[in-house]
Amino acid sequence: MKFLPDNPQQRHRLQRFFMAVSAAALVLLLLFFMHAGALIDGQVMLNTFAASLLLVAAFFVLLRSDLNLRAKDPSLTQPMILTSTLVMLYVIDNAPEARSLLVLIYLVPFLFGVLRLSILQMCCVATLFIVAYAWILFRDIAILMATEATYQLHLQLWITASVFFWFALFAGYVGRLRKRAADAKTRLESALIQVQKMVSYDELTGLYSRRHILDILAREKGRSDRSGRGFCLLAIDLDHFKTINDSFGHAMGDATLRKFAEIAMPILRPSDMLARFGGEEFLLVGLDTDAQGAAAVGERIRSTIDSMQVPGLPAHHRVTVSIGVAEFVPGESTGDVLRRADMALYAAKQGGRNRVEIAPVGALAGNPSSPGPVVAPPQ
Ligand code: GH3
Ligand code: MG
Ligand code: MG
Repeated sequence: MKFLPDNPQQRHRLQRFFMAVSAAALVLLLLFFMHAGALIDGQVMLNTFAASLLLVAAFFVLLRSDLNLRAKDPSLTQPMILTSTLVMLYVIDNAPEARSLLVLIYLVPFLFGVLRLSILQMCCVATLFIVAYAWILFRDIAILMATEATYQLHLQLWITASVFFWFALFAGYVGRLRKRAADAKTRLESALIQVQKMVSYDELTGLYSRRHILDILAREKGRSDRSGRGFCLLAIDLDHFKTINDSFGHAMGDATLRKFAEIAMPILRPSDMLARFGGEEFLLVGLDTDAQGAAAVGERIRSTIDSMQVPGLPAHHRVTVSIGVAEFVPGESTGDVLRRADMALYAAKQGGRNRVEIAPVGALAGNPSSPGPVVAPPQ
């Protein structure tokens, strides 16, 4: 079993628990100094130490065994503060000489509440402490029966109560601000994931977006330049798509685009990345393949689409695609490989459509501008 859990939330809770353990160690150290100064009795010191050790072990087991997840607040902050309050009250009760200092020391565990507790919960803890503290003081007043001393004891109680309730309100308020900031961060993170999804995927087909495939292309070019590992581009364009829109309506055109994505995806390898590049144009990035291999993939797509039936379109209406294949040449720019795929696609259109063409490696030499890009290169 690892010391820290894998679950990031549980790990965070355990880290916070170790902070609380450090605070407890500090308190015990201060108590020890008070014991050395004869302000705290040896037996009381020993009992306090044993109780603290037991509590630390118990909370560690609860957090590490995930039993804390059954609690309403799995950080267990409230039980931790309540148990340390009881331990401190025990010391306060048994060390009358050191009360003022002990009340000051109690602020260390009390203010931990700022991390999780609400104003109400903080006030409850403060009330518990003050009621018990008052009980201890009034018991002493009854014993003392000395009028001069009672005024000071009353003063001690009211000052302690005022300070603790003020801290409870203040810590609760700061805790609320902290919680609001944490909630806002969570909302922002999920909004960011949503935005990233919207940017990376095409809404209509669910395929990668143009922007995302261009990022992939730049990444694969970098990888290929370094490792020499090849990849290919397939520029895919639906033939005479405009007639579908014109004859059967825009919605039918949309349905055809969706059907294309639905049919094409399952016949690709998991490493192939297909994007809607714009309108009725798609771009496929195929990894670890040469032009011949990519052309075979293109041919598979072409023949599958050729026999595709789009619900709503007349059975005799064939949907076909033209495909241009370009194998990336290490060192060339992404714009150039896109242009070559484009030229091959143009050749496929010129050659009668419903076919696959491969771009020659030197296709751009002496022909810097391709014949009217079907797939526009990135800006
Ligand atoms: P070609 O065989 O030469 O590619 O001819 P084509 O008709 O497929 O190409 P053209 O560029 O002439 O027309 C493409 C059409 O695609 C025009 C445009 O209205 C349509 N289109 C673009 N985006 C969408 C879309 O999201 N939904 C629909 N339904 N149509 C779209
Ligand atoms: Mg077209
Ligand atoms: Mg087009």
